[in-house]
Amino acid sequence: MADRALRGMQIGAKSLESEDGVVFADRFIVRYACPNGHEFEVTLSSEATAPATWECKCGQSADLIGETVEDEEDKPVKPQRTHWDMLLERRSIEELEVVLTEQLSAYREGRLRPEGSYRKG
Ligand SMILES: [Zn+2]
Repeated sequence: MADRALRGMQIGAKSLESEDGVVFADRFIVRYACPNGHEFEVTLSSEATAPATWECKCGQSADLIGETVEDEEDKPVKPQRTHWDMLLERRSIEELEVVLTEQLSAYREGRLRPEGSYRKG
């Protein structure tokens, strides 16, 4: 019960500073790269949706390669941490494969261990 409430709070707090933050900014900058090696930036208003492609000055169709909120242009864009990222901070791929293999064979044999029992120690 308490666990569920906490999880709900985390999701809410996170969404405030991720995609929603970009949407509410006045403008944002999108970067495009064309097949001829040209890279350029286009500033869009926050109401606009960045198109997947933009016509380059050379006439080629350039692909969207990134978005930046203008106010934070100088700062490196902080990637949003996913559950997968957090998992990788705790375990290596090798460890995860061991856990997965264990769990798969346990599943096939109908003896899945309860959550947490495969922690070390
Ligand atoms: Zn070009």
